Amino acid sequence: MFPVEPFGIRNQDDGFGQITKLGSVLQPLEILSIQRNIDPAPTLGGLMENHEPFLREAIALSKSAMENGDEPFGSVLVKDGQVILRAENSVFTGHDMTNHAEMNLIKLAAQHYDPAFLADCTLYTSTEPCAMCSGAIYWSGIGRMVFACSETRLGEIAGIGLNVPSRAVLQTGARAVTVVGPTNLEEEAAKVHREFWPKHLGKI
Ligand SMILES: [Zn+2]
Repeated sequence: MFPVEPFGIRNQDDGFGQITKLGSVLQPLEILSIQRNIDPAPTLGGLMENHEPFLREAIALSKSAMENGDEPFGSVLVKDGQVILRAENSVFTGHDMTNHAEMNLIKLAAQHYDPAFLADCTLYTSTEPCAMCSGAIYWSGIGRMVFACSETRLGEIAGIGLNVPSRAVLQTGARAVTVVGPTNLEEEAAKVHREFWPKHLGKI
């Protein structure tokens, strides 16, 4: 059992399935059993692995974060073609500027899964993880990370960030972490940033 709210997991009733209400508690197996109305992507052995459904879900979470008063970032953790955890940015509502979507997801994952399990998981995220989150992915044991929008693209829109590519962090570690991205959904993910950052930074 674990609290939902502190980690930015929110109720999903927008077609991606459902979890539960804010503030209630979940069993990890309940998350695993979520029925999603999109086809799971083929994974092991799949010739044409499709990252899009999971990236679209991460992008939907980035919109949810924005609507909830936080920065527009979202992430999901996938095991064997199923979303097992979701998280969104909660830097403002959680009063912690390190509450990035990936950090929230990794902390949640670490409470319930060991690194051996996480080695077979993929973290999908709407925008390329910053250096902090890339480091957290490394230490978590997660085996693969896929992002839609690059940090470079985010920087062009928002003018923020550490400007360290995730590969610069992840490909120098002793443990191999596969990195995929940016993908063909980059502009779809960037659209949320164009909606949020100029207004947030007082530029319009
Ligand atoms: Zn981050």
